[in-house]
Amino acid sequence: MIKVGGLLPFTMIDFPGKLSAVIFCQGCLLNCPYCHNPELQSPATKTQVTWEEVVDLLKSRQNLLDGVVLSGGEPLIQKELPQAIREIKSLGYQVALHTSGALPDALAAVLPDISWIGLDVKGAFSKYHEASGTKPEFKIGEAVQKSLDMILKSGIPFEARTTTDPRVVTKEDIWEMASYLSQKGVQTYALQEYRPCENGRMPEPPAAAITAFYQDAAFLKKLESLFESFIVRRA
Ligand code: SF4
Repeated sequence: MIKVGGLLPFTMIDFPGKLSAVIFCQGCLLNCPYCHNPELQSPATKTQVTWEEVVDLLKSRQNLLDGVVLSGGEPLIQKELPQAIREIKSLGYQVALHTSGALPDALAAVLPDISWIGLDVKGAFSKYHEASGTKPEFKIGEAVQKSLDMILKSGIPFEARTTTDPRVVTKEDIWEMASYLSQKGVQTYALQEYRPCENGRMPEPPAAAITAFYQDAAFLKKLESLFESFIVRRA
């Protein structure tokens, strides 16, 4: 069964409108400089939480929770994910997926069973490798575009969101990406302020650079005009 790197028994914010538990899936194929869960990146890491423990928790919360969020890491990296989703749904839960969108084929396999998606859009598609910490030849940006098209076609409610790490995105990058998303028909877009992380692999940016995105009212207003719902999440 899937490898679980962590478990949050209760959240009100990760699956809109639902009281949920969050399963942090082990392993990721990206290497974002701002990653706050580097311990979840390696698929080989020995984990502490068993699938049986997850199922026991979900059985004990059946009358208290509505949903389960699959987050990570990158949940779609795990081959057993479709089976895990079926088991979660058989317990009466709706399932939300937090994903980088880097694995469109794996996404296609689970999409019919997903009720809400949080899609991380890391940076401008013209230089996606920089924001995702991957080699340009892996063409992660193209994979994310394919996933986005698939999600839009499915009609499943979702949010596209970007972490504004000033080391990997500029306002111009965000504008380029937001314009693309808007043209595609994305309705909900969120900017998430970068939170400094301990033991990051790059020197921390100056505090003024982190907040600069949010002090430019004209920039935020322009972004807001592109979407039906524009969300700003400050750290
Ligand atoms: S996709 Fe998420 S888990 Fe993976 S490296 Fe990036 S921030 Fe970390």
